[in-house]
This record gives sequence, structure tokens and C-alpha cells, in this order.
Amino acid sequence: MFEHDSSMFDGGGSATGKSEPPTYLVVGGVAGGMSAAARLRRRDESATIIVLEKGRFVSFANCGLPYFVSGEIEKEAELLVQTPRSLAAWLNLDVRVNHEVVGLDPARRSVTVRTEEGLQQIDYDALVLAPGVVAARPPIPGLDHPVVRTLRTVDDALALRSAAMAKARRAVVLGAGFIGLEAAEALASRGLAVAVVEYAPHVLPPLEKELAWLVAEELRRLGVDLYEGVAAAEILDQPAGEGGGVTGRVLVRLADDRELVADLVVLATGTAPATAVFEAAGLACERGSILVDDHGRTNLPRVYAVGDATLSLDGVTGERRPVQLAGPANRAGRYVADALVADQAGLRAGGPGDGDAGDDAGGAPAVAGPRQARPVPRPLGTAIVRVGALTAAMTGANRAALDRAGRAYATVHTHPGSHAGYFPGSKQMHLVVHLDPATGEILGAQGVGADGVDKRIDLLATAIRAGIDAPGLIDLDLAYSPPYGSAKDPVTMVGFLADNLLTGQTRLWRPEDLDWARSQAVLLLDVRTPAEFASGHLPEAVNIAHTELRGRLDEVRRLAAGRPVAVMCQSGVRSYIAHRILVAAGFDSATLSGGMLTLRAWLGAEAGKVLV
Ligand SMILES: Cc1cc2nc3c(=O)[nH]c(=O)nc-3n(C[C@H](O)[C@H](O)[C@H](O)COP(=O)(O)OP(=O)(O)OC[C@H]3O[C@@H](n4cnc5c(N)ncnc54)[C@H](O)[C@@H]3O)c2cc1C
Repeated sequence: MFEHDSSMFDGGGSATGKSEPPTYLVVGGVAGGMSAAARLRRRDESATIIVLEKGRFVSFANCGLPYFVSGEIEKEAELLVQTPRSLAAWLNLDVRVNHEVVGLDPARRSVTVRTEEGLQQIDYDALVLAPGVVAARPPIPGLDHPVVRTLRTVDDALALRSAAMAKARRAVVLGAGFIGLEAAEALASRGLAVAVVEYAPHVLPPLEKELAWLVAEELRRLGVDLYEGVAAAEILDQPAGEGGGVTGRVLVRLADDRELVADLVVLATGTAPATAVFEAAGLACERGSILVDDHGRTNLPRVYAVGDATLSLDGVTGERRPVQLAGPANRAGRYVADALVADQAGLRAGGPGDGDAGDDAGGAPAVAGPRQARPVPRPLGTAIVRVGALTAAMTGANRAALDRAGRAYATVHTHPGSHAGYFPGSKQMHLVVHLDPATGEILGAQGVGADGVDKRIDLLATAIRAGIDAPGLIDLDLAYSPPYGSAKDPVTMVGFLADNLLTGQTRLWRPEDLDWARSQAVLLLDVRTPAEFASGHLPEAVNIAHTELRGRLDEVRRLAAGRPVAVMCQSGVRSYIAHRILVAAGFDSATLSGGMLTLRAWLGAEAGKVLV
């Protein structure tokens, strides 16, 4: 049944050419959509603003859902940041939940909405699409088994929490991205035996492998079993007699034929944009993600898009990719609302009218409104996650993205304390920073540690956005007192390392160069103490503590026999000192970036085989 919303046709706003207040429709009532709606109201008090949300709730805290499952957020109501009633009172928004947009007619400027009462048609002067994404469903037989859940909505979180609190004892989480790990942590904290299956070679695939290993170790410490580098192949009912039929348990069979028993399976293997209905109406998309210009304009006239369902140009590599994070979605909601209002003002002033899509949206028609809107900035993908006692965070490009983009980069590693080592409670963190070897531009940074990682990655994200190069980090004036940091902050240390590298004060070798360092072409010199050396070293290494090096240079010269010297220590500090001693004595030398700490994490499970 079709039913016209009569309020949309009376008067008709500027869609009819009259100068009556416009009607703005927003599809999707959470991060991007609600930010857009709220900003539209602040920019235009007279407009009719209708938010259409297919679910039961708007403005809910998706990011809080895992912590509702764990119980850290106790009440469902705490997840509901706003309600239709509060949004009507505060912002005069017409928020309609249980309203799913199932059709779009861009020529007529109307959408078809499925409601509990039937189908409705609603006209718009401008439309903002913020439909987000849904959990991707890989072709795994058995995925529709009732024990398989996702974690995207309040209802998902309610179901997972009640399963975890009721009979579930064993959970298998498919996918070790942010949501998968948050789900795993939450279920483990509730006492379930949790296994995580990840197709990529390591957990948190965007994280560099030498940091991901630290996260994997933390998961194991929490009692989570990891199955990395393998896919789930099938979900089967557990055969009767082994608990099947009674407990509702399943077997998750992996591609290598291992089987995991579960009474709860969390599907977190990625996402798919919720855009099919709009793409069918002519919206330009790439693999389902909406193409937008710098102001959120799509290829369709007066149709804008924000959030997880859109494609962005990466802030470092320029690669076109979806960035599914709350900050960028909220920011885009604000900026795109500004662009929409400006475009509408342009239309009313007799501007170019329809077809006002921008350059990156596929066409290049004229911009309608005055340029009163800031362009949506290209995201850096700055992200953070808690895993047990550790924090993992990242900003900018990782090695894989830089390789895809064909960018040259140098990598520095450092393992500083979260605050002054002499003040109680300092925790070691592990930072990896990629920079342009010619210009020093910071290309990406990642960190893992128990304290202070959030602050350093946010600083590095700020530096990237501000165009501060890596040596320029030394110049940042940072607040310091022993409980908070160090006079030489971890970020300052990154600046020192980068400056040394770019000026040739230091030369690095990296875990990737291990075969070279272990070859006969090099003298491998470990400058840790004999006790540290005995605790695990590369079999080819010669041990001379850095404090003895100055007195034993003749010995080094004899051992090197004209070959370069690859120096290493525990963290990279002592080997840098040794490197400078060797260079001054005329040696060709390089120091291991991040030292044994980085090498061990890089080797991961192989460390036991490689080190003696
Ligand atoms: C469990 C979880 C944890 C997260 N944690 C973090 C975090 O810690 N940090 C972070 O930065 N990001 C996090 N995110 C990601 C963040 O929530 C998203 O990036 C952000 O919500 C995207 O906003 P959006 O408006 O594009 O989409 P959403 O917030 O997903 O909203 C889209 C809405 O559109 C509705 N909709 C879809 N199609 C239609 C239709 N046809 N008609 C009507 N309504 C429709 C959907 O029901 C949905 O409510 C998390 C996400 C999840 C699921």
C-alpha cells in the first residue's frame, strides 16, 4: 500500500519552486545522520527535518555496545544518547523509528518508506543518506544457525549479553578486527571460553605484525584461543550424543579441518554498505560504498551522503576506501549539512539547480550554493581499541597501504615509558612510525601499550594533519611532570629517531633485513650484557657489551674483516651508541630498529626457533 505523507505535498517547499521552508530528509538516525540532522536544524530553523530510521532506536551508542555486553555499561538506557522525544524537544526534529526507506525516486525527489502501517512516500528538497553498514555475511554454510549473532545494534547487544549471562559457555568469534576483539574481550570477561578465528595472518589486521603479536599475547593471557591465518569453513550442528540437540551447540569447522565447539558464534568478519536500495535508484557506488565529493554530494541531484556507507580519499595515500569510524561520520554530518544549506541557498538565489554533484562524485557539474561549508577532510583512519590491559591505536597508513600506494617509507621503532621511569607506575609502550625517507613527512603511526598510547597516537595524528614532519615532533611543547610523561616524551623520541635517520646520524636495519644480518656478508654484533645475551640471541651474533666496545674495537675489526657490522641491543638505544662508536672508528655499521623487543615480536611464534 502506498500512502503519501500529506505534509510533504502541502506547500511543497522549494521543491515546488515556491519560497516556502524546505524539507530535508535524513536516512539513518545514528552517528552521521543524526549529526547532519542536528546541524541542519542549527543552520535552518524554518526547515522541516525528518529523520527516517529503520531500527527501534536513534542516536544509540554503537561504540558502547561491546561494553554493554561485558556489563561495564550496565543499563540499556545508558546506550541511548537521545530519543525521538528528546530530539523533538531540543531540535524540533521529526524522528521516525521503524521507518525503513525501501525506494528512492531521484527524479521526483521522493522516497518510499516501509512502516508498521504500510508503505509511505515522502518528498524532499534535499536528502542525506547515512545508512551505515551491516555485518558482511561471507559464504560460510550454517551462518543462519540461531547461535550465530552479530554486534551492530542494541538488539544484537541485548541478545549477546543475555546469551552470555544464560547458558552459553563457549563462544567462537569470527573475525579479529576491532569489533571482533571487543566482543571477544567482553565475552571472556563474562567467563566464557572464547576462541577467535581470523583469516588474515594476525589479529587486528591493520596493525603491523610486530605490534599485533603483543595484542595476541594479551588475548592469550585473557584465556582467548587464537586461530590466525585460517578461515571458518562451515558451521554444523554438534552431532547428537556430544551435547547436540540438547544444548544447541555447534561445531565451527575451520578450513584446516580443526573443529571448535560453540554455543555462541559472533560474526564480525567485516561489513557491507546498506546501500542496495539507493544504488538501484541510480546512486553511484563502488562495491556498494557511495561515491561523494568533498562536500558529501553524490551523483544524484540534491542527494548527499555521509558516514560508513561512503568512500573517502585516504588522507595519506589518496587511496579511495571506506573509513568506518564514528568521528569521521559525525564530522561529515556537520560539514555536509553546511554544504547542503549553502547549496539550497544557492538554489533559492537562482543558482545552477539540479545536477550539482561534485568532481569526485563521478560528474562535475557546477556547485550550487555559495562556498560556506568546509570540505570534509580526508580521514587518517585514526582508531583505538582496548584489549585486556593493553591499548592498540593507529593513525595514517600502515606498511600494506604504503606498499599499495607505491610510497617509499622508512620505519622507526621505539619502546619508551608512559611517563618518567623513576616515577611509580611507568609502563613501556611500543611505537612504530613510518615516514618519508626524503622529506620526513609522517605517513603513519601505531602504538601498543598499557598506558599513554592514546595520547601519543592522537599527537601523531595531529602532527600528520597539521603537516608537521617527523623531526618537527622534537619542537612540540608538551606538558610534562613525572606522573604524566617525560621531559623527552615518547613523541619527542620519535622526532629524535627520525632526525637521526634523515641526517645520516644513524643507519637502521630492520627485522625485514634479518636474512641479510644473519648472512656471512655481515658481522652481527649484539651489544647487550652477557646475561641478556644468554637469555636469547641470534646464533650468528657476537656479544660485546656496549660499555666494552671502545676497548675492543680491534677485535671487532678482526671479526668484521671488512664486512659491515649489524648492531643490535634490547630496544635500540645501546646499539645506537655502539653504532656511533663504530662509525667514528671507520666501520660501516647499522643498528637494529627497536632492538630485540621489536625482533621478538616480529618473529612471534617463530622466535623460539630462531633465537638460541
Ligand atoms: C559494535 C561497534 C563498536 C564500534 N566502536 C567504535 C569505536 O570505538 N570508535 C569508532 O570510531 N567507531 C566505532 N564504531 C563504528 C561507528 O559506530 C560507525 O563508524 C558510525 O556509527 C557510523 O555512522 P553512520 O551514521 O554512517 O552509520 P550508523 O551509525 O551505523 O547508522 C546507520 C543507521 O542507518 C539505519 N538505516 C540503514 N538503512 C536504512 C534505511 N534504508 N532506512 C532507514 N534507516 C536505515 C540503520 O538502521 C542505522 O541505525 C563501532 C561500531 C560498532 C557496530
